[in-house]
Parts: sequence; C-alpha cells; structure tokens
Amino acid sequence: MQGKLNVQTENIFPVIKKFLYSDHEIFLRELISNAVDATQKLKTLSTRGDFKGELGDLTIDVKIDSKKKTLTVSDRGIGMTADEVEKYINQIAFSGVTDFLDKYKDSHEPLIGHFGLGFYSAFMVSDKVEIFTKSWKDEPAQHWSCEGNPEFSMVEDKKKTDRGTDIVLHIADDCKEFLEEGTILQLLKKYCRFMPVPIRFGEETVWVDSETDCDKDGKPKRVEKKQPRIINDPEPAWKKSPSSLTDEDYKKFYHELFPMNFEEPLFQIHLNVDYPFNLTGILYFPKVRKTIDPNRNKIQLYCNQVFVTDQVEGVVPDYLMLLHGVLDSPDIPLNVSRSYLQSDGNVKKISQHISKKVADKLEEMSKKKEGEEKSALEEKWDDIKIFVQYGMLTDEKFCERAMKFYLLKGVDGTYYTLDSYREKIKALQTDKDKTVCYLYASNAEEEHAYIEKAKEKGYDVLLMDSPLESHFINLLEQKIEKSRFVRVDSDTVEKLIPHDDSIPEKLSKEEKEKLQPIIEGEVDKQRFTVQLESLEETDAPMQVTQSEFMRRYREMAQTSGGGMGFYGELPENYNLVVNINHPLIGRVLNETDTEKQKELVHQLTDLALLGNGLLKGEALSRFLKRSVEMI
Ligand code: ADP
Repeated sequence: MQGKLNVQTENIFPVIKKFLYSDHEIFLRELISNAVDATQKLKTLSTRGDFKGELGDLTIDVKIDSKKKTLTVSDRGIGMTADEVEKYINQIAFSGVTDFLDKYKDSHEPLIGHFGLGFYSAFMVSDKVEIFTKSWKDEPAQHWSCEGNPEFSMVEDKKKTDRGTDIVLHIADDCKEFLEEGTILQLLKKYCRFMPVPIRFGEETVWVDSETDCDKDGKPKRVEKKQPRIINDPEPAWKKSPSSLTDEDYKKFYHELFPMNFEEPLFQIHLNVDYPFNLTGILYFPKVRKTIDPNRNKIQLYCNQVFVTDQVEGVVPDYLMLLHGVLDSPDIPLNVSRSYLQSDGNVKKISQHISKKVADKLEEMSKKKEGEEKSALEEKWDDIKIFVQYGMLTDEKFCERAMKFYLLKGVDGTYYTLDSYREKIKALQTDKDKTVCYLYASNAEEEHAYIEKAKEKGYDVLLMDSPLESHFINLLEQKIEKSRFVRVDSDTVEKLIPHDDSIPEKLSKEEKEKLQPIIEGEVDKQRFTVQLESLEETDAPMQVTQSEFMRRYREMAQTSGGGMGFYGELPENYNLVVNINHPLIGRVLNETDTEKQKELVHQLTDLALLGNGLLKGEALSRFLKRSVEMI
C-alpha cells in the first residue's frame, strides 16, 4: 500500500527537524516510552487472560548498526496490525504532532517536557524511518516506511515472525552523534534509567568466579566476562512500599541517583499519593550548613518512571529546591511552558502536599521517643536549621506549622521549642513594658565577655548564627507577640532588658557636662557615640556596644541584595558607654594634669575595645606599650 499522510503543508518534516533543535535527543525517550507502553499493555492483556501465549523475554533492545547507519529500538510488546498502523501512526500520531506544532511553533519559552511529539520525533534525527511490527493478534506483520515527506509505504512483511515492534531510524548525516555508543548510552542513562521494563544496550564487562580455574587455595579465580548491559533499574525504590525499605535501602538508592554525591543524606520522605492526584517519590534532606544555595537542581522529575527534567522550579516550593531526590507524577502537565506550569491547579496541589509532608515529617521527628535523650530533630537540627528558616521565611503555611517544632539553641547547646523557651526565660527576662527579651549571640567566641555578663545576671543566651538569622529574627518578632530579640553586645547588660529599678547617679548634671567633651575629644567620633550611663559601680568603667537595630538591618541588607541598600551602606557604628558611677571615671573627671587625663581615657577606651575584639594593629601595639609604662 502506498499512501499520503494527511498534511496541510508539504514540509512539516523539516519543521519537526528544526523544532526543539537543541533538544532533539528526546526522540529516544519517546520511542523507548512507546516500546515500554506496548510491553506493559501486553502484560495487562496477559494478566486479564486476553493474551494466552508465552510472554517470553520482554527486554527492550537498542542497537546501533554503524555500517547501515541505523539505530533500532525493538520491543516484544503488543505490536500493531495493518489497521492499527493506519490508525495510530498515519492518523492519530500524525494529527498529534500537527496539533503540537501548531500550538507551540511560535512559543519562545522552553517547554518543560516536550511530551506529545511522540513517534514522529524520530524524524528530528532521521532521513527515513521504518516500522516492522507484528501484533499479538494472529495477523500478518507489517513493514511501514517513510522518508521524511508526507508519502509513506506499507506492505506485508513475510520475514518478521515474532511478536512486537522494531523501529529503525536511518540517522541523518547531520545527526551522526546518535550512531555513537557513548552518546546513546548517556541518553539512555538520562531518560530511561528507571523505566519499568528492562532495556538492553551493548555489552559490559563484569568480574565473576571462574568455573574452571582455581587459585592456590582452591578458590575459584576471578575472571572478566562480557555480558549484555541492562541500562535501567526497572523497580526503583520510590515505586516500592515504604514498609518494605530499610534505611540502608534508601541510602543505597540515594547513591544510585547521585553517584557523585559522597555525603550521606540525613533522612528522607517517601511520597505516595493516589488521590486527588497521583504522586510518588523520595525526597532526601542533605546537610545544609552555612549556605542556602549549594546544590540546586537535585530533584528529578519523572512521569511514570520516564525522566522529564531536573529543573523543578514551580513544581516544588522554592525552599524545597534544597532537597535532593525524585518526584514521579503523571498529573504534572509536561508539554507546557514553565509559566503555565506554575498556575496549574494540580501542580499547586502537589506543591502544597509536598510542603505539608515535609512539615509532618519534621513535626514527627521533634517528638522524643521514650528513653531517648534527644529527639531525632535535635540530632539533625544544626544541619537542617537553615532549610527550616528558609521555609518559614518564604512559605506562610509552612511557617505556621514550623512554629510548633522550630528549635532555639542555647549557647550551651541545649535545644528548646519556641514555647518552652519563652516559659524558661519569662520570669527574669521580661522588661518594664512586659515584652519578653530574647538574648542571643551570633558568635559565642567573639561575644564571650558579653555572654558571661548576661549569665551573671541570670539571663539565658541563645546562639543564632545562620546567614539568614537577621531576617529570621524579624520574622519571629512578628510571629511571637510581645517579644524582642537583642544581641548580647547591643547594650550594657542593665539596659539589654530595661527594668524599672534605675541606679542612683554619682555625678551631677554639671559634672556630666564636663566629662562628655573630655572623652569625646579622645575617640574617633565617626565610629563611636559616647553615652554616659549610670551603671553599677562594679560594672566596667567603659564598654563598647552596637545598636541591635542598626546592626541587624545592615546584615539584612547585605544578605538580601538590593531593596535595602540604604542600610547596607551605613558605616559601622558603635556606642562607647561610660559608667559614671565607676571610681576610675571619677578619677578622669578630677585629674588636673591634662596629659595624664588623656592617657587614662585612652587606656580605658582601649580596654573596652579590647573586650569587644575591636582593638587591632597599631592601636593594639600602642595600648600594650602604654600599659607597660603605666605599671
Ligand atoms: P503516544 O505514544 O503519545 O500515544 P505516539 O505518536 O508516540 O503517541 O504513538 C502513537 C501510537 O502508536 C501509540 O499510542 C501506540 O498505539 C502506537 N505505537 C507507537 N509505538 C508503538 C510500539 N512500539 N508498539 C505498539 N504500538 C506503538
């Protein structure tokens, strides 16, 4: 039979060829998907009892013939009768491709999966395509052939006797790379790695026990053996039931997915939903310590075990992009552009579902098991804290959930939930306006002196050291009523949490007015604001502090890039707090020798700077020299 495909234009094939030029490798995924479908259909017919013959070996074969310049995909699935070729290949598949091209030929946005091009995508890389097919029904085999123009031929094929379909691509001269074993192997590994029917391509070498040779100890020798290479794992872990998998199985699968990631994942979530959408998958939590963007694009999207993409923006909430793993859903529309994807109802539901599952998992981990000192969440907290913070900052619903299990960490390493921590500090750390003051340090070493002073007062100090912390603290202040976060070095310990009981001042108004310029005259006014305060006699004579507000906004501007530029450009500014009740300050005021007075001020300022880690370089040397002289 000769025929003409029902085409409006004579040259649709050149269009197919050019279309998605950069992506024309997907033809292999399309053809193997068809082979897999045909095989699965046969299995179904067999279980239903419609097909009574032997299934036999259902492995799909991919073969290159470099002399004939062909690439062949063979399956032992249901095959097609002459009528079916006419219907599915000449009419339906073809109208499918025309529809697809009509819809997308002017689209400039990359399409997410390019599904829908189907069988005809073979013409993107071929001059001629042949189909040899024999149906499972007792009907003659067919040979269909088309040379990339609307004419095709179809004749009975007397040679083909076994069931199934061979698709033979005569690879075009400008697509020679598809005749190379390396290229095809890489594509099979990319798109077909977890397809549900075994796929055979080429050979591989393995080491096995020799059946004939033994070594000195009588053990069989290890020898090389060539065997057909199966390129896929037809039963990937995410398709199995979670109860049948151990932690080891999950880890093994992680390394199968990411052979180049040597670090172990922390834990995983196995997704398995049937309704109202279909979704399976495994998401692993990697360690995220100091940066929030180390390893994106580590989630692979599959559709019924066929790889689609590893760019899942829009499918999962942004903060979950930090996770690694696989998602498999036939309900994510694949031949659409990314912007469309984000507004798709199913995609939104899937995204919310994943977010909820993540929150469920973390909440479950936060519950301490009997006899255990730490909850699973506490064990892993330092490695996932940034991730939780990022989620809370960007996803309102997740934030609500996470308020229940978020952990604060004391400088001594103890973990508290937000509620239990508030209970703990409420009594001592509520200020005169009934606001509970959470004290924190960003660096336990550098802020050591301040932490100690706060502890002496009976206060508790948190360690808040992630790069997102300044943004996160702002969020907590909004979420927890009557709360305020203050870094331990942002004021003198008395003022960190202002209470009503002020300390009587030892200096009169006139004396203070006299003291102020004496000290201001000796410090860098660009960097320091001199502040006279009435503190305990036993407190330090001078201290350096830095306003919480200014510091936090500067940090936020630095980590959010743009928008808050003004704060980012503020110079670093400190307060030099002078304790007017300290005897040494009295001495400064009463010193009549101005040289000696200056020396004393310098010495006191330097001591304060030293306590804050701000005394460096030449200033530090001068201080050391002066100290020796004074002794
Ligand atoms: P789709 O797979 O999306 O339906 P295709 O253009 O890839 O579109 O294929 C069209 C139809 O041709 C398939 O639905 C199937 O009925 C038939 N077909 C394609 N390849 C095979 C095959 N290897 N074995 C049996 N039938 C096939």
